[in-house]
Amino acid sequence: MCGIVGFTGKHQAAPILLDGLSKLEYRGYDSAGIAVRDGEKLAEVVKSTGKLVNLYEKTDGGKAIHGTCGIGHTRWATHGVPSQTNAHPHVSGNCTGSGSGTVESDVVGVHNGIIENYVELKEKLMKHGYQFYSQTDTEVVVKLVDYYYKKYKMGPVDAIAKTMVRVRGSYALELMFKDYPGEIWAARKDSPMIIGIADGETYVASDVPTILKYTKNVYYIGNCEMARLVPGQATFYNLDGDEVEKEMTENTFSAEAAEKGGFEHFMMKEIHEQPRVALDTINSVVKGDRIDLSNVGLSDEEIKNISQIYIVACGSAWHVGMATQYVMEDLAKIPVRVELASEFRYRKPLLDKNAFYCKCGWKQYRERGGSCFLYSGRT
Ligand code: GLU
Repeated sequence: MCGIVGFTGKHQAAPILLDGLSKLEYRGYDSAGIAVRDGEKLAEVVKSTGKLVNLYEKTDGGKAIHGTCGIGHTRWATHGVPSQTNAHPHVSGNCTGSGSGTVESDVVGVHNGIIENYVELKEKLMKHGYQFYSQTDTEVVVKLVDYYYKKYKMGPVDAIAKTMVRVRGSYALELMFKDYPGEIWAARKDSPMIIGIADGETYVASDVPTILKYTKNVYYIGNCEMARLVPGQATFYNLDGDEVEKEMTENTFSAEAAEKGGFEHFMMKEIHEQPRVALDTINSVVKGDRIDLSNVGLSDEEIKNISQIYIVACGSAWHVGMATQYVMEDLAKIPVRVELASEFRYRKPLLDKNAFYCKCGWKQYRERGGSCFLYSGRT
């Protein structure tokens, strides 16, 4: 897992991007990078492998890069080895280097997720004269946006929408277009991304805690939606390019709860907050002296009919799932299977139509301000 951040506003972007990336470190990453624009100038891209401190040092804590609009990324390599060249941001230009510095490019972008059909798209783009410097699927998306942007000349919304229709996979995508200084363009499918608004400033991040220090006012960009972000304002679009109205949500998470709260590691904090989290989770469905599951989205009848429970998880959440399996089977007398999420998505599992599944993970736990780590639904 990995993270994205973005900022456009009145302040210098680089220190804010580095601060945001430090909040996302808990997700794990192998490299990091930022791209910052100073007014109309080309974006300056800086990337480094290893810990974020390397990026800090390269940019003098962000002070060495000027500009009030920028995007940042921590990468967990899925396509291409962890290296400076494969680190994001990626650029649309036909450069021979690693895509760092100020590369002549119309589009610069970062991406969380996986583009499943990137090989076929890369071949298509190569036929149109594009050269690739990295092994990533992300460089292909950035260049595909550039291709549609130049081919149809109908602006970013159209270019991004055409790209979204063409790619298969998951993405939280942030782009900056040379012709649109001070603007960030975002798109999302199956990867988390939120937009925060403060007075004259706009933030993008993979989760709410990353920007809580700056604002509590957040928009949740929907699946397969795009957004145009300018200082203090966000406009949302659907795949047809039509504007979508959205309600801003005021978040109740405290910035403190999102931080390590005096513990040396998030893991220590989470171990110690388990009694409270378990209590909060149970309390959220206790109304008076009875359990009320009406908010879970399942009727009593559906709950009675559950024939099988799947817990789909990775890492430590998989271990939690194993422990939960014993308790659930014992109490509910319903068979429980714990599946590795990374394998599950590529299998064709034989799912019972009355089965119930839970996706568990650290990410969901954090997105819910540490108060719950289960997502659930029907198969
Ligand atoms: N698939 C992209 C890559 O390997 C993005 C991975 C990520 O989400 O960090 O660069």
